[in-house]
Parts: sequence; structure tokens; C-alpha cells
Amino acid sequence: MLTKKIVKVHLKQTFRISHGATDEKEIVLVNIDGGIGEASPVNYYGESVATIGDFIDKAAAVIGDDPFRLEQMCDRLNHLAAYNFSAKAAIDIALHDLVGKRLGIPVHKLLGIAPRDDIATSYTISINDPDSVKKQVRDNPGYKVYKVKVGVPNDIEMVAAVRDSTDAAIRVDANGGWSLKEAMQKIKLLQKYDVEFVEQPLHWKDFEGFKILRQKSILPIFADEGVMRAEDIAQYYGLVDGINIKLMKSGGIREAFKMISVARALQMKIMIGCMVETSVGISAAAQLASLVDYVDLDGNLLIADDPFEGIRAVDGYLKYNDKPGIGVTEKP
Ligand code: MG
Repeated sequence: MLTKKIVKVHLKQTFRISHGATDEKEIVLVNIDGGIGEASPVNYYGESVATIGDFIDKAAAVIGDDPFRLEQMCDRLNHLAAYNFSAKAAIDIALHDLVGKRLGIPVHKLLGIAPRDDIATSYTISINDPDSVKKQVRDNPGYKVYKVKVGVPNDIEMVAAVRDSTDAAIRVDANGGWSLKEAMQKIKLLQKYDVEFVEQPLHWKDFEGFKILRQKSILPIFADEGVMRAEDIAQYYGLVDGINIKLMKSGGIREAFKMISVARALQMKIMIGCMVETSVGISAAAQLASLVDYVDLDGNLLIADDPFEGIRAVDGYLKYNDKPGIGVTEKP
């Protein structure tokens, strides 16, 4: 039986990126015969807890009741309606969790993937003034990588403030907030702060801009917003160095696994990322983390009242457990 509930979680501090700010987030939890999944709605793609609820109700009637037919069930979800990727992810995660629990093995084992103990996740620094940025780093020490949200006028000062506060690696994510001209200027300035790469410098549809930028940029470029599913990857071939895969964009673990194969075939680098998600979404994504080049699974670390315990970063590295399924338990 499939049940769903809406849960409101609160962020440790306001999370601000170039297309909006948030203090709390409503997510939808799904339970399928004991398998747990999560949908964290992505406003950018027109999702809300209401659209997720509607999709899940429709899905419950058509997916069938044999979780071992994962491929078939995910096909049915995709035929039910386009988009709705976080709702699809909730069901896909719950089904993977259920299959793992029935077999008594973690999902990574089900997929033939061995976890590692050297997977460093980045910690996200949200948009703010330089002093508050320094405080964010001070309050969250020990990460090997900080991902700085940029795409606003004072963003170079923010990166400088992070570099002032830590020797850790720095990556930046403009969430499409720069024009081509700004991107060229800012990437030149970012060099000085030893930035590793730049995520989504331009609007995702600016293919011509990406083409020019990649030829001129001294830093590698990653695409995020425009790459939801496997079918979206090829359009960025030659325009970016890598892609950011997220379960809430792909519709779940199954599609994300396929995306990894496609990106590898196209010789692209791969990051696995997240939205603001509880330990359900993060632990599900962590099942795939051994396969990728860069990991940005910090959504649960940003939440003050995560209702779950699962896989999370300890001293900057993902700490796995050997619980079956996605490795998550509800806090008492
Ligand atoms: Mg991003």
C-alpha cells in the first residue's frame, strides 16, 4: 500500500541562491509497504507539494504491486505524465528501499556498487554578505570542499571571503545568474581564489553562450538546471565539461544510474547533487556516489529538524551504514 504525508522542515539558516531564498521547506514522504521515499519539490520546475500529491495519487493506481518489476513500474510513472520528477523520485526511492529491505541488502549492493569511505561532499555556502559568508564557513568547519552560490553582484567578494576562511577546495554555482559577458569576467577573477570549477554559469537554454564560454574559460564548466534526465545530456556535449545529476530532477535512482552511463559514454565528468532534502533523499543519492567524480550531498546538513537518520557527512566524508534499503531510520 502506498501512503504519503507532507512534512515541513526548517533550515538552520536562510538558504539563498540566485533564483530565490527559503527558511523552511515542505516535502512529501512516501511509504510503500515499508519502503520510504521523499519528494522535495523544485519550484524552478513548477512543482509544489500539491502537484506532487496529485501525481502520487494517480501513480498509486497504476504502478502495480510487485516492487521487483522496478523498470516496468518506473516506465508506468513516466507514461503517466511528463515532468513531476520529484514525485517520481519519491516513488522510485521507496521502491528501491523496499526491494533492498525485502532482500536484506543495501541498495548500492543491489546495484552492484561498493561504497567507499573517501567520498567527500561539498558544503553549500548560500548567498550573503562577506561577513556572514565567513560565519557560514566558521560554523560548518571540516569540509574538504565548499560550494559557493554565486550569480549576484557581490559574488566575487563572497568567494574571497570563503578563501580567506579556509584552505579547502572551492566550487561555485551561479544557478544561471550570469550573462556571457559577466561569466567571462568573473571566471577570470575567480582564478585567483583557486576555484575548481563553475556550475551553471549561464541560463540553461543559452547553448550558444556555453559554446563560447567553454572555449574561453580557464575553469571547467558544469551544467545542472538543463540536465534532468539521460535524454537531456547529449545537447550539452562539447558545451560543458560535466553535469550535475540529482534524484529530484531525474525522477529517482534508476534514471540517475542510466545518466551516469550516458555521461561516461560522452566522456563528461559527473557530480551527484541534491536539493534541500532530508536524509531520505540524501541517503538514496549516496547509493550512487561511488560512481561519480564529485559529490554535493549536503541537503540534510542544512536542515535543523531532519526527521530521519541515514547516510550523512561526518568530518566531511559520507558515512555509510550497512542497513538494508537506502539505510534510513525515522528518528524516535
Ligand atoms: Mg546547481
